[in-house]
Amino acid sequence: MTRKGLWALLCAAMLLPVACSTVYEDETVYNDIEIPFKDDFRTDTVTYGKLPAEHARHILNLADPSSEIVGKADYTFRTDELISVRQTAEDDSLRITSWSAKTIYDVTLEMYIPEVGEYLPVAYLDSIPGFSRFTFKPSFVGRRNVCRTADGGFVSFECPHLDMEHMMVRLQSDDEHFKKLQKIDAKWTCSFSNYSWTPTAGDNCPYRELRPIYAREWVVIVSNYAYMMTTPEYDYVLSHFSEVMGGDLCDNDKILFDADKYQTEKERFKAEKTFILGQSSPAYGGLGGGYIWTVTDWNFYGHYASFSGWEAIAHEFMHCMGYSHNSNMTYGANNEAGVNVGWTVFIWQLHMWLSRKGDLPYTDRNLLGFHKPENAPYRDCDINAIFQDDAVLEQNIEKFYKQSRLVKYFTEHPVTVTTAKGKEETK
Ligand SMILES: [Zn+2]
Repeated sequence: MTRKGLWALLCAAMLLPVACSTVYEDETVYNDIEIPFKDDFRTDTVTYGKLPAEHARHILNLADPSSEIVGKADYTFRTDELISVRQTAEDDSLRITSWSAKTIYDVTLEMYIPEVGEYLPVAYLDSIPGFSRFTFKPSFVGRRNVCRTADGGFVSFECPHLDMEHMMVRLQSDDEHFKKLQKIDAKWTCSFSNYSWTPTAGDNCPYRELRPIYAREWVVIVSNYAYMMTTPEYDYVLSHFSEVMGGDLCDNDKILFDADKYQTEKERFKAEKTFILGQSSPAYGGLGGGYIWTVTDWNFYGHYASFSGWEAIAHEFMHCMGYSHNSNMTYGANNEAGVNVGWTVFIWQLHMWLSRKGDLPYTDRNLLGFHKPENAPYRDCDINAIFQDDAVLEQNIEKFYKQSRLVKYFTEHPVTVTTAKGKEETK
């Protein structure tokens, strides 16, 4: 169009009556308007097996010396963050540590970016191997990104560096094991110790070396124990203790718990607490109190069978919670009705019920295989006879299953939970 022609058109447009333009606007459609931005935010795909060797490794390896893991900040885990995501000290990379004993599949790592005001899918992790640690640098750091927001608009942003003070991380996955771990809400911080054990300490030393094979089992024990505390059965028993277990719990002065005490203790057991996990000598089933939580060798493989292990594990836990042998929180005690009542009795029976139901993060002793003959070089104990044969072990579990008050109670009175949709479901 010539300049003269343009002028003619503009003048004609200016002469159009105002009313007509309203009509034209009503008929205007915007289909042809070009999208001004293009979403170029990239979700990284991270494949553990394809990362450079120096960026990916397994932790708690059987052959590692205990000196690699005891008293180390790097070997500290939180029960409410069993897959931890941190910024590396060196650069703008993320470091993921899995305190899961099992591989987790199909995980999306999302980060809240303050400039965007929402969580973005930063990386897709096709698997997170059990007991692993790996680092990668997210692609969005150090470049300008344009991304589509939830309301359909676009945001252009640039993060020169990772800023974990203001960014937040969350992991999303439909993996069943991952969902169990994510339910755990006990705020326990756990690390490992050899305590007074040294290579020359001798048999009189009350502690033994905490080699990685023991530390792996501790992770399983602590995860299962904390998970038990998230189940509807646990909640139910702590509101109906005497009805289920045949008597009440009592404190160090033998004062029976009332409804309030059950609830306040329930909260306290899951509150912020530091535990330093170790192995006591076989002279002691366990040693515990304060932050010290140690048990001896048979507990590390017995716990899968419910009737073994939990007596010492839960006993020492209750010393850490301030209970003495005067209370039935440490040892079960016969009440006037002749029923053996106590915290440890409750816990092994709850473990047995949930284990049979498949409602625990870890139910299979073959996953880590502590008891297996090929792992004997990595431990300093033998395996008791009944734990050497699957059929014999199963017979023993069955015997205890039939004796359990809690199992009988929940078989006759299934727990119902109200789901988010208000539907009643039998658990
Ligand atoms: Zn004790």
